[in-house]
Amino acid sequence: MILETNSPEETFRIGVNTGKMAEAGQVFTLTGDLGVGKTVFTQGLAKGLGIDEPVNSPTFTIVQVYEEGRLPFYHFDVYRIGDIEEMDEVGFEEYVEGEGVSLIEWANLIEEILPSKRTEITIEKDLEKGFDYRKITIEEKE
Ligand code: ADP
Ligand code: MG
Repeated sequence: MILETNSPEETFRIGVNTGKMAEAGQVFTLTGDLGVGKTVFTQGLAKGLGIDEPVNSPTFTIVQVYEEGRLPFYHFDVYRIGDIEEMDEVGFEEYVEGEGVSLIEWANLIEEILPSKRTEITIEKDLEKGFDYRKITIEEKE
């Protein structure tokens, strides 16, 4: 599925709808350049899960856990990952196989350990279509 947005609010809204439909154990991967809107989408998804506290990219920790929503939410940002083994240390596998909803920003950096069943989301700019234009591709992988 391909969706197009022209403002952060629209991308947030797609995140909200995705969060409302998210199921226990579902894993979302987010890929796209710096500043493309991965965190905006994530904030919407958290909202859709019923999380009201602010969601930002975890800067010093790889994962941030939110328990107040309809399902637990595990938000990973692996941008600063040095060695893939750091993911073992934070318990990546346990989270991803758990009952909560997992979302991984910069998932392409840890491709080799992603579960094969996942919802892959790619966000891209196209400057010819305007500064705020984003193309959001959502794909179910088995
Ligand atoms: P990332 O997490 O991918 O590095 P952020 O979500 O932190 O990116 O930042 C995206 C930036 O792009 C924000 O400043 C946001 O306001 C801006 N922006 C402009 N247009 C859009 C859009 N259509 N969708 C999402 N963000 C947009
Ligand atoms: Mg981000």
